[in-house]
Amino acid sequence: MHALEEKIRTEGIVLSDQVLKVDAFLNHQIDPVLMQQIGQEFATRFKDQGITKIITIEASGIAPAVMAGLVLGVPVIFARKYQSLTLKDDLFKAKVYSFTKQTESTIAISKKHLTAQDKALVIDDFLANGQAALGLIDLIKQAEAEVIGVGIVIEKSFQTGRQLLLDKGYRVESLARVASLENGVVRFVEKTA
Ligand code: 5GP
Repeated sequence: MHALEEKIRTEGIVLSDQVLKVDAFLNHQIDPVLMQQIGQEFATRFKDQGITKIITIEASGIAPAVMAGLVLGVPVIFARKYQSLTLKDDLFKAKVYSFTKQTESTIAISKKHLTAQDKALVIDDFLANGQAALGLIDLIKQAEAEVIGVGIVIEKSFQTGRQLLLDKGYRVESLARVASLENGVVRFVEKTA
């Protein structure tokens, strides 16, 4: 997605060979116009799939997920980090190892929001080693709902997440694919088509 790649080029900050900071438009300050375009792009890529719910994780997945949900006309559920839960509902829970925080946390959603009739699209801000996406997929499977695919705003293609998800049979649609962050420069995967 051209507008997103331009934004990453101009406002992204390479923190290391592994980590990209996009606090200027996605992870802290949010660019609503770009988020709207992102939502539209996810909706275009996953239209006609019968999606009934979008599943994401707090906090940074929420903006792109809500925009996609608006265009697709479906509700968005964000998994809560379990420590912050005040919910007393029955919960689906999964453990997720965080790439950026290097700690394991439990994520959860209320059982009342996701059922076996649902067709779910997972959306997240970043794909690194795939642990957040797999945690969300785990929650969807506990509900016996169907996983339609995974939509990612920024994929770091030099890490293992994409291949892990493809190997498990999931469709992955990433709007920007970063090939490398070496020497402080963002390089994108060459488009083949
Ligand atoms: P994964 O679970 O795929 O290893 O990592 C994805 C999660 O870690 C995302 O939800 C995102 O919050 C965080 N993350 C991974 N890599 C980066 C990065 O380079 N920059 C930022 N800002 N977050 C990242």
